[in-house]
Amino acid sequence: MNQPLSFFESLGELVNGKSNDSRQIECIFINSRQQVRSGLFIPIKGERFDGHDFLLQAISNGAVASYWNKDKLLPPGLPMDFPIILVEDTTIALQKTAERYLSMVKPYVVAITGSNGKTTTKDLISSLVEQQFHSFKTMGNYNNHIGMPLTILSMKEDCEVLILEMGMSHLGEISFLSRLAKPDYAVITNIGESHLEQLGSREKIAEAKMEIRDGLKSDGVTVMDGDEPILKPIANETNVITCGYGSNCDVVIKNVSGNEDGQFFTLNHEETKFYLPLLGKHNIKNAVYAIVIARKLGISDLNIQKGLKNTTLTAMRLQRIKGKNDSLLINDAYNASPSSMKAGIESLELLTEYNNKVAVLGDMYELGEKEKELHQSVANSIGENVQTVICVGEKGKWIGEALQERKWNGTVILCETKEDAESHLEPLLTSETVVLFKASRGMKLETLIDKVRLP
Ligand code: ATP
Ligand code: MG
Repeated sequence: MNQPLSFFESLGELVNGKSNDSRQIECIFINSRQQVRSGLFIPIKGERFDGHDFLLQAISNGAVASYWNKDKLLPPGLPMDFPIILVEDTTIALQKTAERYLSMVKPYVVAITGSNGKTTTKDLISSLVEQQFHSFKTMGNYNNHIGMPLTILSMKEDCEVLILEMGMSHLGEISFLSRLAKPDYAVITNIGESHLEQLGSREKIAEAKMEIRDGLKSDGVTVMDGDEPILKPIANETNVITCGYGSNCDVVIKNVSGNEDGQFFTLNHEETKFYLPLLGKHNIKNAVYAIVIARKLGISDLNIQKGLKNTTLTAMRLQRIKGKNDSLLINDAYNASPSSMKAGIESLELLTEYNNKVAVLGDMYELGEKEKELHQSVANSIGENVQTVICVGEKGKWIGEALQERKWNGTVILCETKEDAESHLEPLLTSETVVLFKASRGMKLETLIDKVRLP
């Protein structure tokens, strides 16, 4: 950004500076340790630290002005004429500033939520949109009530399409983000079981995700998973486009074929063939959300095809890695919930050119009271196409026990630790072997992958 100080001044009361100060603000920052050029510092009170204690550090790192909670004392040693804008609450001021900047830049806004696939869909939309527009997207996991405003404030003035990921753990959070961002397009990628612990039921999770429509512009469009029965209540509304494999969807995915690098597919009765260099049926769906929005924005199919081809995903999402003895390792260990674990297993099963398919499955956290049942439910989705399942951890073992109970044909190995898993996995690695790794973030399965990958 590049805005005069006066743009921010009106959000509070300027003290300690001159009101006709002509300085420009080139960025907003909340971390006083960050080195910036001509930044406006916004001190936020967090659980452990209060940004107000670090103003002088922020100044030495490039702050040229700061918001300030009006109830706090200014620090001794504050340079004369350093502009301070007093506000009631710095977090609210950050959000209001973002809202105001957004209404000035006026990009098309795409908001994405869902239990799984938000980041992937965001990356796909961005890859398609940037073929024809100046665009900007949420970086990393800046998807909450602080991260999202910061994302908005990081876009440039010439941004035409802003792609925002919206995360949540409680009811009401997505509603707030949506009303702030006022999207033109809202995407609900899927409904899973993440945050079941906090929300209690899948219905409540769906309700929380549907809040993404609370701030939708009056002519805004919702693009969502058409294969999820729980989203049925809104599926038939005007301006809702359902996407999926079921024939009842508005956009039906057809003619899927693929290899170990990617997949081809077509939509409805169209002839256009799309190629997506990613594995997993779920990723085709994520790509279709992106195609629908790109077409609405007037992007040609040729550019869409180019965008899909150029897509690169953030690491650890079905990432292909060369393993020992010419085996293939699939690192999907960024995180896991029952729905994303099932999606990962389905992706593994589609790799028919490998005769030996192994799934290394670990604990899934935050599933609430039904955690055992939910782990066991994963076992039902493992077919005869997988030869070995290695379960790691005290919760992961429930998956294996359920397989044994079901008298599944393959080999089940229960491991307490990752070291244990490594010793069982290593002898299985040949050029015929593909291994999927999936567990919650806390398991850090990538450390196991590091042991069995090629250097
Ligand atoms: P987080 O909430 O942790 O930020 P996210 O929603 O951004 O997650 P991604 O990082 O895109 O999700 O994907 C995480 C995992 O979810 C993938 O590795 C994959 O296993 C699974 N996944 C992705 N898209 C879908 C989908 N449409 N349906 C089911 N599972 C999916
Ligand atoms: Mg994400």
